[in-house]
Amino acid sequence: MAMHQTKSQQINTLELLDSASTLAFAARVGSRLKGGEVIELIGDLGAGKTTFVIGLAKGAGITEQVSSPSFTIRNDYSTKGLSIAHFDFFRLSESGDLQEILAETLNEPQTVVAVEWADTLSHVLPSERIKLKFRPLPSDSRAVEVAYPIQYAYLFEGEF
Ligand code: ADP
Ligand code: MG
Repeated sequence: MAMHQTKSQQINTLELLDSASTLAFAARVGSRLKGGEVIELIGDLGAGKTTFVIGLAKGAGITEQVSSPSFTIRNDYSTKGLSIAHFDFFRLSESGDLQEILAETLNEPQTVVAVEWADTLSHVLPSERIKLKFRPLPSDSRAVEVAYPIQYAYLFEGEF
């Protein structure tokens, strides 16, 4: 456990021992979502980015099955008062219309935006966003670095 704090940004790391731990952590975060949060998920293939979103959606009360948007580029889920737009730009060759679509989605106050492989469109994302960086450790364990502007502290209350 490491904790680093600057005036506006918090950085914490935690170890998630297996996929169940990732799902449970994500579900706790999901249960605290208010709408409008932007979460960038960073890490190699199989690191656990989509697993996190599955837990996030469950915690937010979404009952639909969540799957990877790696082929569809975008999947949408909604529940009472809250939507999750889950993007994966891994296979995106040219950003084209997506830039505008992403920008519009970011303006929806009830929508949580979760993005895997944001790189090609990261300039469209607000600098005030939550970043989760997944790093595989031996066995099923993952080290996750959680960086967030202080106004999103409510999402991680008691986690570190
Ligand atoms: P990504 O979206 O980063 O490519 P996925 O979430 O789709 O990754 O896949 C992660 C895979 O690793 C899943 O099969 C999941 O069950 C497995 N896994 C094992 N341990 C963990 C862990 N601690 N956290 C998340 N996923 C894990
Ligand atoms: Mg994925």
